[in-house]
Parts: sequence; structure tokens; C-alpha cells
Amino acid sequence: MMPRMADVSMETIVNLCKRRGIVFQSSEIYGGLRSAWDWGPLGVELKRNVKAEWWRAMVQMRDDVVGLESSILMSPRVWEASGHVETFTDPLVECTNCNHRFRADHVDLAKGCPDCGTKDAWTEPRQFHLMFKTHIGPVEDSSNIVYLRPETAQGMFVDFMTVQQASRKRIPFGIAQQGKSFRNEITPGNFVFRTREFEQMEMEFFVKPGTDDDWLDYWTKERMRWYADLGIDETKLRLRQHDPDELSHYAKNTYDVEYEFPGMGWSELEGIANRTDYDLKAHAKHSGQELSYFDPDTEERYVPYVIEPAAGVERPTLAFLIDAYAEEEAMSAQGKMEKRTVLKLDKRLAPIKVAVLPLSKHADLVPVAEKVAAEVRPHFATDIDITQAIGRRYRRQDEVGTPYCVTVDFDTLNDEQVTVRDRDTMEQERIPINGLVEYLRKRF
Ligand code: ATP
Repeated sequence: MMPRMADVSMETIVNLCKRRGIVFQSSEIYGGLRSAWDWGPLGVELKRNVKAEWWRAMVQMRDDVVGLESSILMSPRVWEASGHVETFTDPLVECTNCNHRFRADHVDLAKGCPDCGTKDAWTEPRQFHLMFKTHIGPVEDSSNIVYLRPETAQGMFVDFMTVQQASRKRIPFGIAQQGKSFRNEITPGNFVFRTREFEQMEMEFFVKPGTDDDWLDYWTKERMRWYADLGIDETKLRLRQHDPDELSHYAKNTYDVEYEFPGMGWSELEGIANRTDYDLKAHAKHSGQELSYFDPDTEERYVPYVIEPAAGVERPTLAFLIDAYAEEEAMSAQGKMEKRTVLKLDKRLAPIKVAVLPLSKHADLVPVAEKVAAEVRPHFATDIDITQAIGRRYRRQDEVGTPYCVTVDFDTLNDEQVTVRDRDTMEQERIPINGLVEYLRKRF
């Protein structure tokens, strides 16, 4: 293994993302919208791969978890029952000198304002509500308020009985969902780390009361394993238990999976909470519906406890990008040492898996390259890149983490073979075109 970058700056990552169309500001032609970001052609592939790996590990590879896609707009009574209307707030303070606002728990109030430096100019903290409100139908009055969901989890709670009965799952089992959530954050920032619109990957795992501590332990280990398995440097990954005064209104115990982000320090990627029977009981009470489980083996009826691994999509994706970033000295095609930037993304996450590169734009080579790309494309996300010198094209593919470059040269016209270059070792191998898909398949 090559050594990893000690500390790539966030600015370097932001610039790479913009330059290569991975992530950039939303509504940029109008000056942007603060904290809103758009995922471009390569970014959307990367994000989809992160979501697909989570879905595979959390749903498809397990017999005890099923999927769900619930609506973003839900009955407002859901958020009354869940406690969000009353308690989903952050403490807001304002600097009376520069009028900038901060989350009271994110600034050191004794040190003064992070923006203007003025000391003791804070307003008293007030509770700021994080849910976005809108209205259903043509009239905007209080009778038709709906909220944009601030978490996907409530869909799993309100659909618990329907899903359990339809899937005939026995406890312990889980319901998983991926989708957008919205929070009117006081201080969004740090690129895509904190935004007002973001995606979540959440799973509610329903267990028998009394077994909840063991299951919390199980899921924290599983989730740490997922990040490490997808290549995150384990020295940059840690588990942190919440202090009692930090716990959400529904939680008995919570661990955060944290990553050491450049310039930000240890920050949350995912929270794994023991939500107890809080949500199911609250919905049973507010809806008047039975939300419990009958255990056919012991003939007991009980309200299950819930262990919830709740991850974002953007934060882990940003961590994968940062962690994969490396700058190395490498030999160029002309035999000179030069710097190369390479994203050592796990192959499963790489937005492009295979790039087909004709040695030059020569009219004999391009159609052969197109034919090779057409053969590979049904099996792997494939790019064909024709313009500029071959060395530059290798560097462009390295920079976005493409694991294999396949080069078509003049020998190919005679021997029907191509050169496959490995992103990490930069070693090249000559492979017959008719064995290429098989060769690549073995390596993914
Ligand atoms: P924080 O303390 O950073 O505000 P949180 O503890 O409120 O986060 P959770 O409610 O546990 O976050 O949400 C689960 C996951 O959803 C987080 O770990 C994070 O990955 C993601 N997430 C939450 N809020 C945001 C946001 N504003 N922007 C991007 N991702 C977010």
C-alpha cells in the first residue's frame, strides 16, 4: 500500500469536486443558494454507489431486514406524536455586534464571536425550530400545515404494523429506508457536511425489550465494519458515546461514528441510537392504533424496542472522497518523475470503473476503442476518452478514481489485444479483447 495523504485540505477537495463536476453550488448562475449543492455526473454515480453498498449490506444481504420508501410529506400528527413539533430545536444565539447567528452548542461563548471577535455580545439562547413548514392545497392557513420530514425514521414507525404483517418477519427484524430529509439548520457549512436538504440511510431494528443493549452493541460494530470494509482508514474512524445531556429526547443510549475531517476534527458520520419503545408507544397513544408485537413462541405481546443506525449520504460520501485522496510521485509516459493525484476509492464506489483510451485520435484507433467500450459497457460503468495526450488522460482518470484504463494502440489492430493499466500499482498488462470482460470481472 502507498502511504496516504497526511492531511488533504477541504479546499483541495472542494476544488477537485468543482473542477471534475462531482459536487458544486446549486443555482450558481444566480449566485448560489447558501448550503445547497448539486451532484454532477461523477458525483451522482459516487453517491448512488454509496447508497447501493449500504442497501446491499443492510437489506439485500440480510434475512432480517426489509426495505421501505415512505412519503416525505406525512400527516402533521406524526410530528406531534414523535415529539418533533415540541422539541426538534437547536439553541440559537446572535452576536449583537455583527448580527451573525450561531448554534449555542457549536461555539465557545466565552471566547467571543467567531466572526467579529466581540466578547460578551451574545443574546440569550432561544430555541430555534428546525422543521421546514409548508401548506397542502391552495389556502395557506394553520389547518393545512405539513412539514418536510427531518428524518426518514418516522415512516418506519408509522408503517410498522403493515410492514411486519405483510413481510411476516418475526422480531428481531428491521425496516430500512433511504431518502431526503430537511432541517432548517442555523449554521450550515463545511461543504456538504451540513446542509438544509440532505439524504439519509436509516434502519429501525425492532427487538425484544431487554435485548436492546446487546443489539446496540451489535449494530455499532456492524456499522464500523461497513466503513472500514469500504476502505476508510481506521485511524480516522472512531466511535463516541453521547453524554447523557446530549441524548435526543427519545434515546436511552447513542454512539456516533465519527471521522476526522480536515480542519473540522472528529465529526459525526452516523448516529446509532437506542430509541427504546418511545416512538411506537407515542404513535399508539396519538393514533389510538395498536402498535405492538405478538410473539408466537412465547405467546407474549409487547412493544418492541428499537435500535437505529442513522447515517447521512453526503457526509459519508465526503469522508470516502477525502480518505481516498492521495498525491504521489509517479513515472510519466516520457520517463519523468511527476506528481499524480489519485483517488484510491474502493472499486465498488468508483464512479467510473473502466476507461477506454485510444492511444491517439488516429482514425484507425477510435472505432476499435468504441467497439471495446461497447463490449465493456453492459458490465461496468465505462467512459471513453479520446482527446488530449494519453498521459493527461491517465491523470484525469486517476484523479476521479477510475480503477482500470484500457488502452487501444496500433498493435491492437494486428494482435486484437489491449493494455490494461491498474490505478493503484500503475502496472500494465496485455490482454486479448475477447477475454477483457472476464479479466475485469475477476478484479471487481
Ligand atoms: P448533528 O449533531 O451534526 O446536527 P445529528 O446528530 O442531529 O447531527 P442525526 O439526527 O443523528 O444527526 O442524523 C443522522 C445522520 O444524518 C447524521 O449522522 C448525518 O450523517 C446526517 N445529517 C443530519 N443532519 C444533516 C445535515 N444538516 N446535513 C447533512 N447530513 C446530515
